[in-house]
Amino acid sequence: MAISGRRQTVTAVVGGVPIGSGHPIVVQSMTNTDTADAAGTAAQVAALALAGSQLVRVTVNTDAAAAAVPDIVSRLADVGVSVPIVGDFHYNGHLLLARHPACAATLAKYRINPGNVGGKRRDEHFRAIIEVAIAHGKPVRIGVNWGSLDQDLLTEMMDANAAAAAPRDARDVYIDAMLESALRSAALAETVGLGHDQIVLSAKVSQVPDLVEVYRRLAGRTDYPLHLGLTEAGLGTKGIVSSTAGLAILLAEGIGETIRVSLTPKPGGDRTEEVFVAQQILQSLGLRSFAPQVTACPGCGRTTSTFFQRMAEDIQSYLREQMPVWREKYPGVEEMRVAVMGCVVNGPGESKHANIGISLPGTFEDPKAPVYVDGALSVTLRGEGIVSEFLTILEDYVDRRYGAERPVETAPA
Ligand code: SF4
Repeated sequence: MAISGRRQTVTAVVGGVPIGSGHPIVVQSMTNTDTADAAGTAAQVAALALAGSQLVRVTVNTDAAAAAVPDIVSRLADVGVSVPIVGDFHYNGHLLLARHPACAATLAKYRINPGNVGGKRRDEHFRAIIEVAIAHGKPVRIGVNWGSLDQDLLTEMMDANAAAAAPRDARDVYIDAMLESALRSAALAETVGLGHDQIVLSAKVSQVPDLVEVYRRLAGRTDYPLHLGLTEAGLGTKGIVSSTAGLAILLAEGIGETIRVSLTPKPGGDRTEEVFVAQQILQSLGLRSFAPQVTACPGCGRTTSTFFQRMAEDIQSYLREQMPVWREKYPGVEEMRVAVMGCVVNGPGESKHANIGISLPGTFEDPKAPVYVDGALSVTLRGEGIVSEFLTILEDYVDRRYGAERPVETAPA
């Protein structure tokens, strides 16, 4: 599969982060804390930012939540976190933004759902939010959602379709209604005075074929940056696979300037998983690099112990834990490839293709593990301490290859 060139868009700058086709695709996430709990929300935002989320969205649904936003940003500044915060508004955004100017000033972007800005006075409320955005110089995401589509617009389009000589399929009209909702709202925002380059669009649905269809059509009709995401993707494997399936198709076609993976965490689960999944989608497609990649074989009857699985897991976890520090200290380390292989069949070959690799002994093989560095056999490990010894070799390699004292690469003569 070849990745297409990216479609051309304008660039919207959100709290210093550029979103547009001339810039790397932005990973974002959303908290699930009560925003009124400033301490709890700041802690989760910090965790998401540390995981690599470049923007973090918070729900702003009550006066208490709006009042907490400046406190959250101040708490983050106290711990050295400057990630831009996006406010998610439904139903009462026009009221909250007017009543809480400090919130309006502190947020880096407002997300508005045109289906949820208020019945008959929808345009008036929508205008009010846009006027606040203009006054504070903030960009806006117009985020249409399948589950809360503007019902007046949908009815209007369904009626027109029913009266047509050759009515289209209802799903087809529904998808067009989502596009219309996003594009009409964007046009209205520009009429009020918001800049063309201060608008990001999204049109989220919960089924992969619909997602692909709606974004393909949207991409063909506008040069606004697009925020991709499968809404209500779901739990665990289903959520990860569905999001990956939908986003990968669109990203491979050059569609999408920022992404969010909407996973439902397990009770008490780690919210940062959605950031790692989003990063892995982009890195697997070769669109961005975030963390060293571990090539691990699936294991088979040649490696019946769980030692190999544990080692692959330990190394993956170790690399992830190091990244917040390594990202700053070792530029380029995110491109590193590490191989952890289960036996001699493919182990040495894959290890030679990685920056650093280890080939563990399969069942009935000699209990030794050759380590390859930059394609050459470096050392052979034996005994109980294989994992810790390998991690020491890995750390030395990272320091040598990506540290301040790294050898200068010279062009061949
Ligand atoms: S490298 Fe060895 S253990 Fe791993 S899948 Fe291949 S044959 Fe099986």
